[in-house]
Amino acid sequence: MPYRSPVAVIVSWVFVVGLVLGLSLLASGVRRGEAEAERSGGMGGALTGGTTVAEIAERSGLPDPMLRDALGLRGPEDRERTLSELGLTPEEAKERIQRAMALGREGETKSWRKIVAKFGAWGMFLGVVFVLMRRSRLSPSVRLGALAVAVAVFGIAFGPEQSPKGTVKDTIALWGRSGVLFPPRLIALALFLAMAIAGNKFICGWGCQFGALQDLVFRLNRDRHDRKGVLRQLKPSFAVSNAVRVAFFAVFTAVAVGWATDIIEPVDPFKIYSPKALGAVGLVFVGAVLAAGLFVYRPWCHFFCPFGLVGWVAEKVSINRIRVNYDTCVACEQCARACPSTVMGAILKQDRVIPDCFACGVCVETCPTKSISFDREKRAPVPEGKFAEAPRAAAVPEGAEQVDQQGTP
Ligand code: SF4
Ligand code: SF4
Repeated sequence: MPYRSPVAVIVSWVFVVGLVLGLSLLASGVRRGEAEAERSGGMGGALTGGTTVAEIAERSGLPDPMLRDALGLRGPEDRERTLSELGLTPEEAKERIQRAMALGREGETKSWRKIVAKFGAWGMFLGVVFVLMRRSRLSPSVRLGALAVAVAVFGIAFGPEQSPKGTVKDTIALWGRSGVLFPPRLIALALFLAMAIAGNKFICGWGCQFGALQDLVFRLNRDRHDRKGVLRQLKPSFAVSNAVRVAFFAVFTAVAVGWATDIIEPVDPFKIYSPKALGAVGLVFVGAVLAAGLFVYRPWCHFFCPFGLVGWVAEKVSINRIRVNYDTCVACEQCARACPSTVMGAILKQDRVIPDCFACGVCVETCPTKSISFDREKRAPVPEGKFAEAPRAAAVPEGAEQVDQQGTP
């Protein structure tokens, strides 16, 4: 009797996606500080050389410290001075005020206590998973449980805001719209990159709310050992998926900077955790991504995500990473077949281009000779001729679990 029938895969997909949507609807209703502050336009009325700072303060609603920084004021006595007296042209002053207002609006939309709590939760959760990964303790059930926790905590409970994807997307979109950088977001981006470097994209593998949901969906369509799809799963060529991702990033950036338009926003799949913000187009898109996610590992991450691309570059200097001990490796390539994407095959043979590894641990758990680890060592070069012959499944030592070409033990 199969572990899970194709019908059960579809039913569990409907159940999980429906549950995430339903719980997110409930949670977003009670989450405080969720609603984005109204992004109002610029300051009303025109400026002239005779406009005083006090008038600008009233029309813009900017608090004194921001006004002082924006116009370079020395103190309260400058409030009655005109732009001409300050040596500013109306155009220059308007541009500075609009930038300050854009930064102010970004700050108003944030719940700082929630942000600190979310980063604290990420730190603790990723720390636990990291230890499990280092000790090779990520069995299929532990993996599924950890992914479910990530979806529940970082997605349903905390919502779509604050994500690795958002730090890249929103930085570019804000720059395109207002010509400003929001410093707290840059700090968050630096933290996410640090996590990606410390643990080979660990934040994407286990912490990102939408990455975890895609991963969970993909694993619904896997056999008991998490090595093969119940319904056939595909491994698209990395050259294709990355080319699409680079092109998408380039178009997104060009449109954001050239036309002040964020083309990701209407289809942002992270809004599944705030379903009321999902329009019809967004709902169709996120449904399509999650349906594709049953058959292809993390389609949004591999084909579209801006942080996916940036994190893949950061991954090149990651400290902890998947490593093969070629002294004990018997070249059976079971790890490469069990890996949900093409990356383990590339790591195993040390290809010039290594695709994204999401540190899921399947390869570590699959290797019959325990030759794969997740650690700080440098990757050793492949011994010459190691993979020259046909896969040597027969060389698997006695007692070690053997997996056939289909990934079935
Ligand atoms: S690549 Fe995937 S996991 Fe990483 S930020 Fe993007 S959606 Fe999240
Ligand atoms: S190489 Fe593949 S199986 Fe191994 S941790 Fe990375 S994504 Fe998972």
